[in-house]
Amino acid sequence: MPELPEVETVRRTLENLVLGKTINEVTVRWPKIVKHPDDLQEFNALLSGQTIHSIGRRGKFLKIILDDVVLVSHLRMEGRYVYVEGEEEPDKHTHVIFRFTDGSELWYRDVRKFGTMHVYKIGEEEANKPLVQLGPEPLDETFNPDELYEKLQRTSRKIKPALLDQAVLVGLGNIYVDEALFRVGLHPETVAHKLSKQQVMKLHKAIVETLQEAVDQGGSTIRSYVNSQGDMGMFQQKLAVYARKGEPCVNCGKEIERIVVGGRGTHICPNCQK
Ligand code: ZN
Repeated sequence: MPELPEVETVRRTLENLVLGKTINEVTVRWPKIVKHPDDLQEFNALLSGQTIHSIGRRGKFLKIILDDVVLVSHLRMEGRYVYVEGEEEPDKHTHVIFRFTDGSELWYRDVRKFGTMHVYKIGEEEANKPLVQLGPEPLDETFNPDELYEKLQRTSRKIKPALLDQAVLVGLGNIYVDEALFRVGLHPETVAHKLSKQQVMKLHKAIVETLQEAVDQGGSTIRSYVNSQGDMGMFQQKLAVYARKGEPCVNCGKEIERIVVGGRGTHICPNCQK
């Protein structure tokens, strides 16, 4: 699943491709992807005739901002956008087609069909699902270590599942939680409320640095993830533990292990993260 850096890469790519384009019509071929409004005709009516002014991001959600409405899109496992200028025919994995007035098209492809789309009037999206439950944005000044400490103090969960909870903070998934915990030498099964203030300060810094470095590198490309133009993110080569089972730790040389924490495959150095 794309995490904050990968979604940010998609955001930037889309911004280069579709800014200023006006939607002529929308075809939805797999209705379950559209979560709001309930009625597909209303979904089409809200978007048709609207021009794309900017592409934003909230956590792992894209926010496509048009004249009067905003399309909130989550790629989930396999979703991706494909920009098409020629006479190509959409394949069976293309579930939503946005046709622009200039003849170009934006396709939403999703092999697993887990992605979601919500359309709201501008200004209503933050007060409604799915954005309303979200915690602070880690690359924004609203993300502060004191608040993170308070939130972690209130949970008896392990630190990894706590950090994956998008109400605690947004944007982290399996890759960047493993990377951030490795950077501060914390075992992912550490109980969240047992962390000291100082440990949380370090963890906060590691989360920000890990995500910022990954954003700067265009994200990671794990399995089938590619950005909208099919480029590979370059952060993959910088990963210290994720997907490196059996390889030597960059700090101490001991073999990276894969364990399961909260049902998620988790990569640690057993020596650096005790
Ligand atoms: Zn190590």
